Amino acid sequence: MTKAWNEIDSLVRIASGAKAPLEKRDPAGDDLFPDRAHAEAATVENAKAIDKLQDRLWAERKRALLVVLQGIDTSGKDGTVRSVFNQSGPLGVSVTAFGRPSEEELAHDYLWRVHAAVPKKGMIGVFNRSHYEDVLVVKVRGLAPAETVERRYEQVNAFEKHLSENGVTILKFMLHISKDEQRQRLQERLDEPEKNWKFNPGDLEDRALWDEYVKAYDAVLERCSTAHAPWRVIPADKKWRRNAIISAIVRGTLEEMNPSYPKPDWKPTDFKIV
Ligand code: ADP
Repeated sequence: MTKAWNEIDSLVRIASGAKAPLEKRDPAGDDLFPDRAHAEAATVENAKAIDKLQDRLWAERKRALLVVLQGIDTSGKDGTVRSVFNQSGPLGVSVTAFGRPSEEELAHDYLWRVHAAVPKKGMIGVFNRSHYEDVLVVKVRGLAPAETVERRYEQVNAFEKHLSENGVTILKFMLHISKDEQRQRLQERLDEPEKNWKFNPGDLEDRALWDEYVKAYDAVLERCSTAHAPWRVIPADKKWRRNAIISAIVRGTLEEMNPSYPKPDWKPTDFKIV
């Protein structure tokens, strides 16, 4: 029996202030979408529905949806974008990948580049990595003083509250994979010639810091899951299950937002096309 999207959502959503150690969360998620064929069919259907809802969002042009994707290397951020938004017209969805900040970006506060990429009204914006890198990689690799990082959790919450009070609905997904699954995915990048380009020796340095990253994610989940922007921890060892869960939540959220086509202030019968 298929679970309704909000039932699935309630199983992956982190309550505000709750301790949610990743270690206690199963990256397999067998009970959510147990059947692969069904999950794949649901993802296609959800992606089509998301496209239709995006059309309404654009026509209405009053609100935006921001989808934040975070996860350790190989967790499937790119693949999620490809599967969940592959039916959506390129005009309605913007995807921003956040890499190491440029000199110009570093010359501003860390949220400057992030705020500039927030989707405008009518759009769905996807962040492939995000401002959370500023409390993840920056913390783990000591790229800023600990006190600076410490202050950022509250700053991020305030920033997201500001966005949510100004027409931006925020969905934050942490793609949760096991260390063993990451080993296999990295190995594929070495073994399969068409995946060699994805291999980055720096990923091995981050893999060696796995436990540090888990701790940094635990802090994010505990401190930045708020009523206005809760985190969802998505079991991501199976790509097809990850896609089905995320597409269901994106679709369900858009349906709840229920954007509507504006009513014209004229009647179609007022005009005659000759
Ligand atoms: P990806 O691994 O997401 O496919 P890249 O290989 O371009 O893409 O990696 C982006 C890198 O940029 C990651 O190692 C990430 O940790 C790093 N990065 C992102 N944001 C920041 C930041 N604010 N400060 C330092 N490094 C960052």
